[in-house]
Amino acid sequence: MRVILAQPRGFCAGVVRAIETVEQALRKYGPPVYVRHEIVHNKFVVESLKAKGAVFVEELSEVPPRAVAIFSAHGVSNAVENDAAARGLAVINATCPLVTKVHNQGKRYATQGRVLILIRHAGHPEVEGTQGQIPAPVHLVQTIDDVAALDVPTDTPVAYVTQTTLSVDDTREIIAALEYRFTDIRGPDTKDICYATQNRQVAVRELTKLVDVILVVGAKNSSNSNRLREIGAGSGIPSYLIADGRELEPEWLRGVDTVGITAGASAPEVLVEDVIGALRRLGPVEVSTLPGREEAIEFRLPPELATA
Ligand code: SF4
Repeated sequence: MRVILAQPRGFCAGVVRAIETVEQALRKYGPPVYVRHEIVHNKFVVESLKAKGAVFVEELSEVPPRAVAIFSAHGVSNAVENDAAARGLAVINATCPLVTKVHNQGKRYATQGRVLILIRHAGHPEVEGTQGQIPAPVHLVQTIDDVAALDVPTDTPVAYVTQTTLSVDDTREIIAALEYRFTDIRGPDTKDICYATQNRQVAVRELTKLVDVILVVGAKNSSNSNRLREIGAGSGIPSYLIADGRELEPEWLRGVDTVGITAGASAPEVLVEDVIGALRRLGPVEVSTLPGREEAIEFRLPPELATA
C-alpha cells in the first residue's frame, strides 16, 4: 500500500505557541496552572499537559484565587478578561495572534460606526471570544441564506470579519453575497485570515488527486480537521476523521492502493505516525510526502513568558 502525506499538515504556529505557553508557565510558576477550555482541540495534547500539571477548566469560577490562568488559543471575550481581573488571577493569554488580529479588525470597524458581521462556523469558541471583544452588536452568518436573512438595511455601513478556521475559499461565496447585498461594505484582506487553515486545505485538495481514501488525523471537535475531511469527501474521495491509529477501520482500505493522510492544525505529528503504524500492521507500506508549501511562521510567546 502507498501512503501519501499532505504537506503542510498538523500543528500551526498558533497551536505550537499555545502548547509552549502552558509548558513554559508550568516551568516558570510550577504546577498547577489552570487552562480555561481545551488549550487546543486535541485530547492527546490536553492529556499530555494534564500529566505535566495543567488543570483544564471550563469556567474561571473553578480556578482558585490568585492562581495562574491561561486563556486558550481560541480567544476570550472582554467579560472573561474582566472576570479574571476581578478574581485576581495571574492571566497568561495564549490567544493566537491571528485571532487577536480578527478582534482588532472588528474593534476598528465598530469604532468607525459600521455594523459588524462575523462569518463563522457554528458552535466554535472563537465566535464567543470575537463577539465578546467587539463593543457593538455582531451579526453572525454562516451561509448565503443567513446573508439574505440579515435584518439590516442595504445602505447601512457594514463591515465583515471572518473566523480563522475558515479559509479564503470557504468565505468567498459569503463575502460575494454580502458585497452584493450591501452598498457600503468593508472587510479585511481575506488572504491573511489564517495561513495555516488555507495551506492545509490546499494540501488536502492536492491529495484528493492522488489517493483512493483520505485519513484526517484530528479531534472530532476540531473545526479545521472536520473541514479537511469535508473537502476530501466533497471531492468524491472517501474521507475519515480519526483521532489516532486505534480508530482505523480495516474495511475502509478494502481495494485501496493509495492512502492519503493529513492532520488538522491541532493534531501532533506523533498521531500521524501512530496512524502509519496502524497501517503497517495491516501490511507493507511505502510512505511519501507531497512537496507542498513551506511554512516558516513562528509567534512569540505571551509577554509574561517572553524571557522563559
Ligand atoms: S489555525 Fe490559524 S488562527 Fe488557529 S491557532 Fe493556528 S495559526 Fe492561529
